[in-house]
Formats: sequence, structure tokens, C-alpha cells
Amino acid sequence: MGKKYDVIIIGSGIGGLVTAGMLSKAGFNVLVLEKHSYPGGYCTSFKRKGFIFSPGAHLMGAIGNKNVSLGRLFTRLKVDVDFIRLNPMDHIHFPDRTYFIPGDLESYQDFLIREFPAEKENIKQYLKIFRGSYRYFLRGQLSNPYFNGELKGTFQELLDSFFNDNKLKTILSCQWGYVGLPPAKVSFFSMFLTMGSYIIDGAWLVKGGAQKLSDALVARIRENGSEVKLRCQVKKIVHDDKKVNGVILENNTTVLSDIIISNADLNHTYYDLMDSTKLNHTYLERFKKMRPSLNFFLLFLGVKDFPGIEKIHGWHYKSYNLNLPGNSPLYIYIPTLFDKSLAPGGKQIVQVMTEFPYQFSEIKDWEKCKRELTEKILVKLGKKYPELIPHIEIIESATPMTNKKYTFNTKGAGYGWEKTPDQIFFDFDPEDNVLENFYKVGHWTPWGYGTAGVANSGNYIVSTIIYKSKTT
Ligand SMILES: Cc1cc2nc3c(=O)[nH]c(=O)nc-3n(C[C@H](O)[C@H](O)[C@H](O)COP(=O)(O)OP(=O)(O)OC[C@H]3O[C@@H](n4cnc5c(N)ncnc54)[C@H](O)[C@@H]3O)c2cc1C
Repeated sequence: MGKKYDVIIIGSGIGGLVTAGMLSKAGFNVLVLEKHSYPGGYCTSFKRKGFIFSPGAHLMGAIGNKNVSLGRLFTRLKVDVDFIRLNPMDHIHFPDRTYFIPGDLESYQDFLIREFPAEKENIKQYLKIFRGSYRYFLRGQLSNPYFNGELKGTFQELLDSFFNDNKLKTILSCQWGYVGLPPAKVSFFSMFLTMGSYIIDGAWLVKGGAQKLSDALVARIRENGSEVKLRCQVKKIVHDDKKVNGVILENNTTVLSDIIISNADLNHTYYDLMDSTKLNHTYLERFKKMRPSLNFFLLFLGVKDFPGIEKIHGWHYKSYNLNLPGNSPLYIYIPTLFDKSLAPGGKQIVQVMTEFPYQFSEIKDWEKCKRELTEKILVKLGKKYPELIPHIEIIESATPMTNKKYTFNTKGAGYGWEKTPDQIFFDFDPEDNVLENFYKVGHWTPWGYGTAGVANSGNYIVSTIIYKSKTT
């Protein structure tokens, strides 16, 4: 039997690390257990021949706001990381032209009005509501002067109620890749939260790669006297039908705590780690109907620099109709344009991200699938940018199975649950908790996904735990 902790956190994704950082700062003795040899989950980096690739989270929102999520955390914990702000935050390529999307609200408004002067008043009204409601949504206040709790619409429905110009609606939706669904399917609430975190509170890269952020958080947690144990997989959560008592590790050691927080995938948590027969049956029936978000195929290229490489960077669409099946964007990301430290001198990183085109369960041979998709994308890139191919020095790729293997996320999903209007408020009520003193943080909770969203989920749970500890 191991020692007893105030809180055990399963998983060191950003959700788990933020929670541990804040709780350890508040004086709780916390143990974070991570199965992988690196902390961070999707917020990580890997190195090949001097290139530093960050395969998951890279562009981070909400850092510029000291009152919420990551911004709040960095202020309170004084996390020792340098950030690079992107403004413009995105380059969006359509067949006839490229748009540069500003990464601050004032320039964003100016840009939209310049491009669509006939919609000037509608744009102003829309952005007023966007900014105002985003602040309320961040705090979980769904009933607010802007929406009064009526949040069931898609982003397309919302845009149709404001604007006439279809191209304007496309430009407002063209960053849907960050939320995982095109405008006709995605909840406007999720789109506001994500785009608000970037356009209102700034879009930032971690200098030196995403792993630096996870490592810095681990350093702070340890300085606060708490522990982060790597290569330490949780096998079971010890519980009865009312409350949790601790965890059992792969080596069969039991570690005790009256408070358990899962930052892991929820299917894994309920069905592998817990005894689901002891959990609330009605809740689990609702849970089983939930759909995970999209998953990705990723290509990582280390290339020799060549003139004009910067023109490739950005989201590439085949048409302005974003809801058209098959018009999922190809995202080509060149982080070395902003951070030279990620590659040896005279070299660049080109990362390509695309929606995985198959059903996860259809794939029998993942290695073959990886080889074929790598080849297919290289052929596509070669047709559009022939000068790129001879400059490639390193090729790595990742499928949804790679993501699942490293993080246990269901089907390698990138953003937790699919952000449709019918799914976004699942688990929103704290009473949905399946057991006493058991909590969830991360992108399978309604507080959001992405580094800003999962940090927000951590902030919320930390407040709940601190409040409870003072009142009981
Ligand atoms: C390709 C891709 C690109 C993305 N791009 C961005 C982006 O640009 N910006 C952005 O903000 N977000 C981005 N995201 C989303 C973002 O990365 C995630 O939403 C977020 O990082 C998830 O954090 P999390 O705290 O929920 O945990 P996760 O990152 O899912 O981590 C969970 C951790 O729990 C551990 N774990 C699971 N089970 C156990 C167990 N039994 N015992 C011990 N440990 C366990 C796992 O090993 C893992 O480390 C991207 C995601 C992907 C896949």
C-alpha cells in the first residue's frame, strides 16, 4: 500500500497539469500519474535530426487574458515559457486568392469591413455579440444578456441570421478546423469559445515547441512540493457505488486518495479503469450515445529552405462552400517561419494535417494505411508545390492509431467529443458526477478542448475542490 495523497490526477495532459499546478499552489499534496515517458499528452514535441515537431496542440488561445484559462494560470503560477504571438494568425487559401486573418479583434473588424463594406453595420453588431457572449461563456454563464441560454444552433444558422453575403460567412467560418466540424454542423457556442480565445485573447506559439509548456508546468508542480510520476499507468480506480478511494497501478501498487481526477479519455476511465456496473446506469446510457470528434492524419517534413516556402503556409480549400463534402481543408503549417529554434540553420519544418478520410474501425493494417496516405499527400503536395519535394530531408507521419497509442484517446480523436449542438452540454451539470469526489478535466468535459479549453476545465474543478474543502 502506497502513501496517501490529497488528490490523485490520472494523466498529464494540459488539463491534468493545470489542475495539479493550481491545486499544489493552493497547498494540496497532489500526485499526477502519467503512463507515457513524457508529460503533456497531446501537448508534446518529438525530435528528429535537429528538427522539433509538435504533433498536437501548437496554436494556443486565451494566453493574453489574465482572468481565464491559460492566461490566468501563467499569471498565477509564473510559468517559465516564452510565447510568440501570431498576427495575422492564419493564412487562408482559396483557389482565387489568399486571406490573412488578423489575430486581434480590432484588426479583425477592420479587415472584415474592408472586405465586405456593404455588411459594415451587421459586422459591428455581430462582433459585439461575439465578444460579449464569449466572456460569459468562458465563465460558464450560459444565460447572459446576449443569448439567454438559447445555445442550440449551429454556426451556419447564426451567420445566416446576421449576414447576406455568402463569402463573408465563409471567411467567418474558414478556421473551423480548430473546432473540428464545418459551419453547418458545428455548434456556434463552441465556435465562439474557440475563435474568441484566439481572436479576442490572442493566438500564440510556445517558443521551442509545445513540450516546453508541459515541462514547465511539471517543474512548477514539483517546486510546489507535489509529484508527477511518468511511465506510471493507472490500471484501476478503487471505488464502490458511492465514492472513490484510490488507484491501482500497473505494478499492482495501490495509492490512496479521497479525491481522484481523471484527465484520461472517458471511455477508458469508465470502462477500463472503473467497474462500470457500480456507476449510474442512466448516466452511462446517455454517455454511450456520445460521438467523438474528428481524428487526423499528420505528415511531418524536415526540409531545406527555398525561396517562396512561406506561401505554402496556411489552410487550403478547394472551394468557398465550406459545407461541401470533400472540402475539408489541408492545413500546412510552417512553425519555423515564426520560431527558427525549431530546426537547424537553413532548414524549415513543414507539417501537414488533414482529416483522417476513413472510419477508424475499418482499418486492419495501420502501417499500410500510414504508408499509403503519406504517399498520397506527397503526390498532392508535389503537384501543387513541385519545388517542395526535392528539398525534403525527413518524413514522419502519424495516424489516429498513433494518437490513440500515445494518449489512449478514443479513436485518436483530436478534440474530445464532437462539437455539435446536441452534445456540447453533456456533463455540464456538476451533479452528473458519477461518484463522490471523482472529477474529470480535459477535452472530454463540457469546458472545452484545446489548451485553452482544457485549462478552463482545470480552473473550474480547482475552484470546486477548494470551495468544498473550505465548506466541509
Ligand atoms: C493533431 C492535433 C492538433 C491539435 N492542434 C491544436 C492546436 O493547435 N491548439 C490547441 O489548443 N489544441 C489543439 N489540439 C487539441 C489539444 O491538443 C487537446 O484538446 C488537448 O491537448 C487535450 O488535453 P487533455 O488535458 O484533455 O489531455 P490529453 O492530451 O488527451 O492527455 C491525456 C493524458 O492522459 C494519459 N493517460 C490516459 N490514460 C492513462 C492511464 N490509465 N494512466 C496514466 N496516464 C493515462 C495519456 O497518456 C495522456 O498523456 C490538437 C489536437 C490534435 C490531435
